[in-house]
Amino acid sequence: MSRKVKPKSSTPPYLRVGLIGDPVAHSYSPRFQQAGLDALGIPARYELWHTPDTQLLERVRSLCQKDCLGANVTIPHKEAVLPLLDIIDPLAERIGAVNTIVNEDDYLHGYNTDAPGLLHALLENGIGTMDTHGHISLRGHTAILLGAGGAARGAAFGLVGAQVDRLIILNRHLERAQMLASDVQQTYDGPVFSLSDPSFLISHSSSIIINATSVGMHGDVSPLPAEVLARFDADTFVYDMIYNPIQTHLLLQARTMGLRAANGLSMLLHQGALAFTLWTCRPAPIEVMRSALL
Ligand code: NAP
Repeated sequence: MSRKVKPKSSTPPYLRVGLIGDPVAHSYSPRFQQAGLDALGIPARYELWHTPDTQLLERVRSLCQKDCLGANVTIPHKEAVLPLLDIIDPLAERIGAVNTIVNEDDYLHGYNTDAPGLLHALLENGIGTMDTHGHISLRGHTAILLGAGGAARGAAFGLVGAQVDRLIILNRHLERAQMLASDVQQTYDGPVFSLSDPSFLISHSSSIIINATSVGMHGDVSPLPAEVLARFDADTFVYDMIYNPIQTHLLLQARTMGLRAANGLSMLLHQGALAFTLWTCRPAPIEVMRSALL
């Protein structure tokens, strides 16, 4: 990566970076990304770029301007941007979704930081290990992935890349779980199972249950029946990608049963920090960004 942003000048012109999606107004990204840029004295503004489908092409083209570092991409454009970019990182290609675009010498590069962001979030919760090259390993763990949508696809490729012992994908529509299982098996030799009925779930030691469905965003609903969760060993870790509300019904169930559990704020932070480094070639000031988020 050749781009090195220059140190702060206190006057405009500013560099630009932003979030492409529809809607974007609810996003927490400006809060913590701007705090990170300011902390390092980078003269850039993180903006919200509300972009309906019909304006996506024009928006992506605008990222080639000299003053633009790149963008984050959110719902519903993470898949649709792929053919509009010049170079796609292999992980993003496998996942089929881009959440970070970098403008490097007028070429637009697409990355997916959701997958490594999840691994870093698990690591900071004491799940997995990192080697001296920065690779995160989840060997010895069984991952139970709830969902097979966009977030689950990133999670699945992240989890198998970290060499989980086995991956179990549970999704309301079985065909979608099967399709994701078949996609990850192209690059993963370990066992992958797909299910639509949670009653078939059994506990393995060191299980990680990850909610990548949207169930729990509204009301007291959980993607897992309490009697199924109750079957899991005491060393099970429950991660809910949802961060608003900060405690979902699944997290409440897990904590009531004495299981360790965390919400999706850490994943939001880490996927954002990885994007920050891609745009700026600087280590993200993660604690500053975390404080701005909390
Ligand atoms: P998505 O592509 O729309 O997928 C939604 C998933 O939820 C699908 O697996 C869907 O199952 C399932 N689902 C929806 N309603 C359901 C219901 N009533 N019962 C059972 N399953 C249901 O959404 P996404 O982009 O993957 O996002 C999923 C969640 O992850 C959202 O809450 C999002 O906020 C969160 N997320 C968090 C982060 C973070 O940084 N923390 C990052 C990305 C996403 P079917 O396939 O059967 O329809």
